[in-house]
Amino acid sequence: MKIHEYQARELLREAGIPVPPGEVVTSIDQAAAAYKKVVAEAGLGEGGLAVVKAQVHAGGRGKAGFVKLVRSAEEAEQAARFMLTHRMVSAQTGAEGLEVRKLLIAAGVEIAHEYYLAITTDRKSRRNVLIASAEGGVEIEQVAHARPDAIVREPLHPLLGLQGHQARRVAFALGFTGRLATQAADVMLRLARLFVEKDCTLAEINPLVVASGTGHQASGKDGTAASPAGAQSPVPGASVMAIDAKFNFDDNATFRHKDVQALFDPSEENPAELRAHAFGLSYIALDGNIGCLVNGAGLAMATMDVVKLHGGEPANFLDVGGSASEEAVTEAFRIILSDHRVKGILVNIFGGIMDCAVIARGVVNAAREVGFTVPLVVRLEGSNVEAGRKLLNDAAATLPTLQAATDLGDAAKKVCAAVG
Ligand code: GDP
Ligand code: MG
Repeated sequence: MKIHEYQARELLREAGIPVPPGEVVTSIDQAAAAYKKVVAEAGLGEGGLAVVKAQVHAGGRGKAGFVKLVRSAEEAEQAARFMLTHRMVSAQTGAEGLEVRKLLIAAGVEIAHEYYLAITTDRKSRRNVLIASAEGGVEIEQVAHARPDAIVREPLHPLLGLQGHQARRVAFALGFTGRLATQAADVMLRLARLFVEKDCTLAEINPLVVASGTGHQASGKDGTAASPAGAQSPVPGASVMAIDAKFNFDDNATFRHKDVQALFDPSEENPAELRAHAFGLSYIALDGNIGCLVNGAGLAMATMDVVKLHGGEPANFLDVGGSASEEAVTEAFRIILSDHRVKGILVNIFGGIMDCAVIARGVVNAAREVGFTVPLVVRLEGSNVEAGRKLLNDAAATLPTLQAATDLGDAAKKVCAAVG
């Protein structure tokens, strides 16, 4: 599960990580007042720097023009008008882009340097890992690709988590010194604790910045969380702050986090995926035109591979589960067909415990009930498959788009041919 930046910033603030003050707005006419409020809260005067940011579940906003620096209420309103009336298309959204319903207006920060900081799970080492770079900001993907040595990785102990000495080592590796190194290490430790506490799969701050000292007031929970006194700073008054944050949560653990559940925003989700979820179907929309209806996640992935092998492009991943009922299959057809790019459907069901004749009857009834005109190729295998195939062949007389296939390769060829 993903959340918005403004929600992520609230989690950071509660964990004692400094973030600039911000306000969420949902309409253009709220923008001017929000601008005035946040610059006042940050102790910035008339004409103070603020930033208007689209709140959508995708990154790459800066490059797409959906993070705008502004210096007046009028500019804030202009930026809000643009963002709320245009879809955001970024490297992470696909060509149709996303509708922007909410904006964050945050106090602006004079940035001396941008860093990257994240905690995630490294499947290879089977541990959580801290990932950091002194070259954070909007180009982090290119940095990681072109110069992997610019990325620091520190594995977390499974029981002890991130240790103080590790956080300090990473802070020094990023070039922090003195008071700022202490602040940066403190942010890392707090982020690592938050990651475990909330069952995250990703907790990312990009950029984490050194804000040059312009009297900027960050809103850490206890105000002084990351500003231990006494240490020397190379830039007087400078401090470490989180400017952008992204969190993903483990869907299998959200049941034990009521506070995280409350952050769920259904309007950011694919409507077909939401409907599928309500029927216990695992459905993920993709970009192709061949709808796939399969029982079992492994078989669904194999089906998609074979479709691609024969030159087709799957429109979705769909696992109806091991004991697919007629009702679930009917709903699955409806969901697949709600994607208007779908030009053909491939049903691939293995009757392990279930009888293929029962499955065939279910598929045929579901297809009749939903009523559609795109080609339908069905491959059945498993117990009582002969009876199942006979049912399909008999039904083909009244369901002219239906073709029975003999095996998976044959099914993929048939559906690819049918969609051209
Ligand atoms: P993203 O592009 O979706 O990751 O959005 P970010 O919130 O990370 O913003 C993108 C970039 O905008 C940052 O890397 C900064 O360079 C810039 N930016 C964002 N907020 C501020 C700010 O308060 N002050 C300044 N000077 N730049 C900012
Ligand atoms: Mg960012």
